[in-house]
This record gives sequence, C-alpha cells and structure tokens, in this order.
Amino acid sequence: MRVAVLGGGVVGITTAHTLIGAGLDVTVFEQGPTVAGQASAANASLVTPGHAVVWNAPDAPFRYATTLFKPRSPVGFNPAVFIRSVPWVASFLRNSTPGRSKAATTAITRLAISSAHQLRELLDDTSYDINVGTRGVLYWHNSEKDLANERHHCEFLVSQGIDAAILDRDALLALEPAFGRSETPPVGALHVRDDFTGDCRLLTEHLAASINTSPSGRIILNTTVTGVSVTDAGPGVSTDEGVQSFDHVVVCLGAATGTFLKKHDVRLPIAPAKGYSITATVTDRALLPRIGGVDFAEFCAITPLGERLRVTAIARFEGPDTTFGPADFATHRRVADSVFPGLVDWESPLNEWAGLRPISSDGKPTIDAVPNTPGLWVNAGHGYLGWTLSMASADIITTKILGQPIPPGAEAFSYRW
Ligand SMILES: Cc1cc2nc3c(=O)[nH]c(=O)nc-3n(C[C@H](O)[C@H](O)[C@H](O)COP(=O)(O)OP(=O)(O)OC[C@H]3O[C@@H](n4cnc5c(N)ncnc54)[C@H](O)[C@@H]3O)c2cc1C
Repeated sequence: MRVAVLGGGVVGITTAHTLIGAGLDVTVFEQGPTVAGQASAANASLVTPGHAVVWNAPDAPFRYATTLFKPRSPVGFNPAVFIRSVPWVASFLRNSTPGRSKAATTAITRLAISSAHQLRELLDDTSYDINVGTRGVLYWHNSEKDLANERHHCEFLVSQGIDAAILDRDALLALEPAFGRSETPPVGALHVRDDFTGDCRLLTEHLAASINTSPSGRIILNTTVTGVSVTDAGPGVSTDEGVQSFDHVVVCLGAATGTFLKKHDVRLPIAPAKGYSITATVTDRALLPRIGGVDFAEFCAITPLGERLRVTAIARFEGPDTTFGPADFATHRRVADSVFPGLVDWESPLNEWAGLRPISSDGKPTIDAVPNTPGLWVNAGHGYLGWTLSMASADIITTKILGQPIPPGAEAFSYRW
C-alpha cells in the first residue's frame, strides 16, 4: 500500500515513521528545504502530559479580553484577523463550556500519557541524542492563589495515574537550587515527574534520516503540494512536478492544514497562534537549571537543552505570519534575567525564532479520514502540544488506515466538523 504524507513537521514525520513500521510504502512531501522547519523547529521542548490542558475554558473569553488591556500581555490578537476568524472564534466559545473543556482536557491528557510513553520507548530503543532532561517538568507560580488552583490540577493528574506533586518554596529550592538566585523565588510549583524535555527538531531529523534509509520511505523536500485530487488510481497529490497517485494521503500541514483543506471544501477550524523562542548560550554551565519548566504568570517556558537554554513565550493570533523583530523577545529577556539572573550570555549569537501553533477550535487534534474523499486522511491541529502528542497521534492514524481497532479514547479525535 502506497501512502503520501503531506508535511515534514514532527507530526508528518512521526506519522511516516509509524506507517513504514507497519509495513507501508511512504512518500513525505515537504515544501521547505529541511524537515522540522516550521512549528517543530524550536518549540519549548516540553513533553507534558502534566499540563495538557485545553485553552478552551469557561473563563477564557474574560481572561483573553483582559489581556488586551494589560501592557506586556502574553496573549495578543490582530483585530482584522480576529474579524476574519469569526467561525473559529464561535467554535472556540461553543467548546469552552465546563463540560466540553473538561472532556477535551481529559482526552488530550490520556493521549499525551500514551504518546510520552511511546516517545520514551523510542528513545530507549535507539541511540538518538535529543538533549533529553529526565527530572520532570516544573510549573511554577508567584502567587499562593495560583498555587492553590494548581492543587486541583495536581489531583486530576494523580487520578489519571500521573506522578505529580505540589512543592512549596523550600521543597522547590531543594529540588532546583537555581531558583535560589531568582530575584523573587516562586512561592511553589507543580512538579510532574512523568513529564520530560527534549529537542523536537532533533527527534524529527533522526526519524527523517531513518525514513530516508528505509527501502519503503522517502522524503521529497522543496516541494509544495498544491492540492489533492481524486483519480481512478486513488487520491492524487499535485505538485509542480505533476500529479502522483497513492492509495492514501495523510494531511499533516500543521497551521496550514485548515486553509489547505478548505480548498477541498473540508472544514477544519485551525488558527495559527504565533509564539517566539530564543535559544541561547549560557555564561556558565554550572548555573543552568537542571529541570525545564513554565513560569505561569508570564506564560514563559525556560528549558535547558544540553549546554543551551531555550526561552519560549507569547501567543499571538495574527494570521499565518512568522516574521519577528528584536521587540518580540523583550519578555524572554526580562523573564530569563529575573528568574535566573546572569545565566544567559546575551553577547553571544542567539537563535531567535517564531513559529505557529496549530490551534484547533476545540483544543483537540483531528486524527481521522476526511469525509467524502476516499483515501484522504488528516492528522493535525495539535495546538501547543504537538511535540507531546505526536507519537500517539501517528499510532492512531496508522491504525485507522490499516482498518484495525483504534485504541480506547481515540474516538475523541475523530472528524467532527
Ligand atoms: C512557540 C511554540 C512553543 C511550543 N512548545 C511546545 C512544547 O513545549 N511542547 C509541545 O508538545 N508542543 C509545543 N508546541 C507545539 C508544537 O511545536 C506543534 O504542535 C507541532 O510542532 C506541530 O507539528 P506539525 O507537524 O503539525 O506542524 P509543523 O511542524 O508546522 O509542520 C507542518 C509542515 O508542513 C509544511 N507545509 C505546509 N504547507 C505545505 C504544502 N502546501 N506543501 C508541502 N509542505 C507544506 C510546512 O513547511 C511544515 O514543515 C509549541 C509551538 C510553538 C509555536
């Protein structure tokens, strides 16, 4: 059976890898000169079953509306884009009721648990070095009220079988002495010991190399797919080189998926939420934190990656634009200097980056057949969790293409639009 995978991000490449492992012949089409050139290039690197919480929530409209009036807000909207995105916004609000929000968080938490487990197994079975940090992930807070709220989430995690605990300030400092240098050490943190950190781009590159050396796999770079047609021989992939027919085509185009499928009269509400990261050299390796994590008040992740430090922040709903300038990294500098003073060597060259989170309007990816087009499938809309969810998502789409029974809970990611 011949399968085309559209998109060479972490979702497309894990999908291709899993399909090949199941005995299928796979061709990946990627518009860029490398794999993992878009959202999968320099994300926050957190594998986080411990914080797979959908952004849809009953108080979301209020929370997002108030950010508009806050200077230095971590969330931003472009009004023109907002107006064009009314169907997405309406769907987001419909899916922000307490019941739907909780059900979606439970579904993606379970998907994340399975996915993180599969990723650990893959890393155990291979010699891939992706700068893994295995001491868990910290979600730290600067107010007692926020820490108290985090206790409810911790109880939920424990009910799902996740190894998590709330740490007060002393326990946090004992676990991560680097906070001893903070301007104001956090009041405490959620520590999820089952979470881990690692470089998504490196994993994607390792898997791409294994696909290219497999007799059943190939990755075609610098090739934009312009459409998918229905031919007598199966779905056809159109590129500048013409049309190639396959038995199945899986669309894994990240934030571009909704626009791509719209051309085929398929509705898939995915909005790009732009985020920015800096990957920096440190002044002294001994000062690096041992554990990656998230400063909740600042919506800023700080992750040690080998000898480097990655700082990631901001979510802006501004359309499919990945440009950036120095001002976009002000939060990164301020938070890094306040939480770990003197750690980042700002004089050394920095790797600055912006990417688009593919945010589905109900917070869950769609991993299923596309209606009315035999042989066309989609695996997209993983939002701020695509690195975390990639392995289990690849497993589900492979199982479905093979016509086998899907894992329990996977029906939550069926086509529903
Ligand atoms: C700032 C930021 C921080 C994040 N942090 C985390 C984190 O800590 N943990 C986590 O789990 N997730 C995180 N994410 C989310 C995660 O990075 C994404 O969900 C994931 O990378 C999406 O992967 P993808 O393969 O679906 O999309 P992408 O990586 O964007 O891949 C899509 C690919 O399709 C290609 N493409 C598009 N159109 C075409 C076309 N017409 N023809 C051919 N190719 C095409 C693109 O070039 C691209 O390579 C973060 C994202 C951002 C932006």
